[in-house]
Order: sequence, then structure tokens, then C-alpha cells
Amino acid sequence: MKCPYCFSNDTKVVDKRDNEHEGTTRRRRECLGCSKRFTTYERIENIDLSIKKKDGSCQAFNREKLQKSILKSLHRDEISSEDLNTVLDEIEMDLLSKETTVVESSEVGKLVLQKLKKISPVAYMRFASVYKSFHSLEDFSKEIEELKKT
Ligand SMILES: [Zn+2]
Repeated sequence: MKCPYCFSNDTKVVDKRDNEHEGTTRRRRECLGCSKRFTTYERIENIDLSIKKKDGSCQAFNREKLQKSILKSLHRDEISSEDLNTVLDEIEMDLLSKETTVVESSEVGKLVLQKLKKISPVAYMRFASVYKSFHSLEDFSKEIEELKKT
């Protein structure tokens, strides 16, 4: 890290703060050359998380894809973009807090279902019909019975 004033490479960190909400780390640095202080921010660009699909292939976790799959079941007018972001954040955090960096796609589906259940039972059914690959009306009514119980 170069000092922005005198371009010296000798700087020391005098204060460090993590902002968990933004996922950033802020470091207050002091230049050992000219003693001036400045602040740097560190942000996570990429996370190491893979999703293992049913066929065994792995794909890097993609938040946009997750958003798209949720919006297939949940229409834009059923959720504000703020709430949608919160749902995505929560799912992402759940996935990241697992001990492994490879998560089965069925696990992701389960998390989505948990969220949709609270937002809209209709969206829940839409998503469940794809995720659980319903084949008959009976599958639907079974799921609805389950949904009523919870
Ligand atoms: Zn300096």
C-alpha cells in the first residue's frame, strides 16, 4: 500500500474496523515516511462457493442466477427489491456459514423454500412444483397439506 502523499511503501495500520453488514474492512494507516494518515477499504469480490447439481456437476455460486430462479416463482410485484436483496443476502449467508464450500443444489432449494414460505404461499407452491418435480395433482395437494400444517 503506497502513501497517497509521498508514495512511500512504508505504512503501518493504526486502526482496523470490520463492517460485517457491508462486508468491508476499513484500515486507518499511517505513513512512516511523512506521518500523514489515510484510510483504505477492503471488500470481498469473489466468494469460493460451488453448487453441486443433481447430475454431479459443480458450478460457482451465482447470486444473479439464484435471483432469477426465485423470480420465476415470485413475481416482481410480490416483493420489493429491498426485500428480495435481504432474502438473497440471508440465503448467501446461510450457504457461506456451512463448513463446506460445495453445497448441493437441493440444499439451496430448501433454503429458498423456507424464505418463500414466509413471503407468499403461492410462490412457495410454484417453486416447490419445480424443485420437487411434482408430477400429479396429488403431489400438489400433499404439499399444500404439509404447508397448512406449518
Ligand atoms: Zn507519506
